[in-house]
Amino acid sequence: MAAEELLKEIKAAVKETPFADAVTNIDFEGPRVVLYCGNLDLLMENGEKIKELARKLRKRIILRPDPSILTDKEEAERKIRELVPPEAKITDIIFSEDVGEVTIEAEKPGVAIGKGGALLREIMHKISWTPKVIRAPPIKSEIVHNIRLSMIYSGAERREILRKIGRRIHREQKAKDGWVRLTTLGGAREVGRSCFLLQTPESKVMLDCGVNVASDDRAFPHLEAPEVRLPELDAVVLTHAHLDHCGFIPYLFKYGFEGPVYCTPPTRDLAVLLLLDYLDIAEREGKQLPYNKRDIGSFLTHCITLEYGDVTDIAPDIRITFHNAGHILGSSVVHIHIGDGLYNIVYTGDLKFDRTRLFSPAVYSFPRVETLIIDSTYGGAEDIQPYRTDAEKVFIQTVLETIKRGGKVLIPAFAVGRAQEIMVLLESAKRSKIIDGIPVYLDGMIWEATAIHTAYPEYLSQELRELIFKEEDNPFLSDMFIKVSGPDQRAEIIDGEPSVILSTAGMMAGGPVLEYFKRLAPDPKNTLIFVGYQGEGSLGRRIQKGWREIPMQGEKGKLEEVKVNMEVRTVEGFSGHSDRAQLFNYIRRMSPKPDKIISVHGDDTKCTDFAAALHKLFRVETRAPLNLETIRLR
Ligand SMILES: [Zn+2]
Ligand SMILES: [Zn+2]
Repeated sequence: MAAEELLKEIKAAVKETPFADAVTNIDFEGPRVVLYCGNLDLLMENGEKIKELARKLRKRIILRPDPSILTDKEEAERKIRELVPPEAKITDIIFSEDVGEVTIEAEKPGVAIGKGGALLREIMHKISWTPKVIRAPPIKSEIVHNIRLSMIYSGAERREILRKIGRRIHREQKAKDGWVRLTTLGGAREVGRSCFLLQTPESKVMLDCGVNVASDDRAFPHLEAPEVRLPELDAVVLTHAHLDHCGFIPYLFKYGFEGPVYCTPPTRDLAVLLLLDYLDIAEREGKQLPYNKRDIGSFLTHCITLEYGDVTDIAPDIRITFHNAGHILGSSVVHIHIGDGLYNIVYTGDLKFDRTRLFSPAVYSFPRVETLIIDSTYGGAEDIQPYRTDAEKVFIQTVLETIKRGGKVLIPAFAVGRAQEIMVLLESAKRSKIIDGIPVYLDGMIWEATAIHTAYPEYLSQELRELIFKEEDNPFLSDMFIKVSGPDQRAEIIDGEPSVILSTAGMMAGGPVLEYFKRLAPDPKNTLIFVGYQGEGSLGRRIQKGWREIPMQGEKGKLEEVKVNMEVRTVEGFSGHSDRAQLFNYIRRMSPKPDKIISVHGDDTKCTDFAAALHKLFRVETRAPLNLETIRLR
């Protein structure tokens, strides 16, 4: 067995090092190699030698204390509080026994780390737990907190899962002949249920596995395709947390998948938030989803998070790296390296190639690229969006006009992405005294999603990150934002003073936005502003198209006609997707140039139109496949 042989090889290599005596055991933990240590000091002295070993083995090495040397938890906590100066303002200390790690959450992490990490080293020396210091998020997030707890409680189970995954990744390669093929299971010539299967003779990897929330008959990807055999799947690679990319992942675990899901840490947290909300809304609307809460839990225990830039083996012949995609918090462009230099794919997920108030533009430079699979949401010939600065002016102007005539502004927004973009914009308008004293109500999962944003400032643009670090400048903490607590408060807001209401769901496919809409629509003083993509078939798209009488469920479940007299505006330019010009720019800047471009994640004609334009412009092979096609890439 190759994994065992590889372990033997690693053990032999460790024997040759000056820290051999400190290592008590060696094993796999997912894609990484763990050295368990009985003598941490000896390892600390040999930092360079360990790096050398990692380079030689071409593996990520992590160090964990041997469980036998860990100081008792209460004693360890006492020592930490003794050593860390009170100015650090410790907010929490959490022990993770499975990995021998202690997380110190502090308001001033720098103080707890000490100069050049001196304090950390001292803590480790005294208690033998590996200390990790994190910044206390300025807004408490229940999800982040619960995820942390569940990781601790599922520790032993998770360690076993990671051990198995590690052995699978490092299994022996059998095939002599290299080929690569891609099957489209969802999200081809449509937006929603993105799902692709990448196959080589060695491995099967799924890229995203989403749902279409705006559709009943085309909601889920084509997992009935014959090449999909869930127990054989090596891994799922998740680009970002939107439901059209992650919404069907729990189902995989329900039906036999036991492998890992790779994503960034914020993607994991946001995905759990959105999946729980999706389940919740479906239940309330009497819809039965084909999975339950426990399956979302399985996603969590099988999730392996990677930071941008971490090169990671996920199968014997596949190595991936995530890079910033500029779309939402933690969103990734994924670079996939197959075989030893055999083939390279870049899958953009959802892509924004422009500076926004939240993020830097997507990364466009890679070591090698043969095929590019690209987001084509706005790939149509007429999809040129106005400049963001112009869009912002129109948006603020519309808000001001509505408030002046005594109306309310209703903005349907995805909990993740557009909502925070609009919040930062409104706060900056208040700061520069353009708008004043207007309360902004946040309903649905927006507040919780915002809390997760403040927990991961390193994933935001530099400007925003700096504002968040200075507490008094943190735009999300402005007193203009009010979290809506429930139905009673909703009624008060609807009958109350002029205000701005940001509420989910983004395409009006459900959620509290419908309650506001029903009551606010008949009054011409009010305004509905669309700031995000409205999927084909969604209520949002119908209203955008000009429907002025909407049948909706009334108080006692009876259907009633809602008259739309309110002003309806669509402000283009806030999209988290690149428009056609930005997509062209992205490919123009891309280095190196791909030989083949596959256009996905766009309505039917947008994909074909975009593929045709790319072929003309860049003289490369382009494709706009339908769902259930297989393309041989090599
Ligand atoms: Zn998205
Ligand atoms: Zn998407």
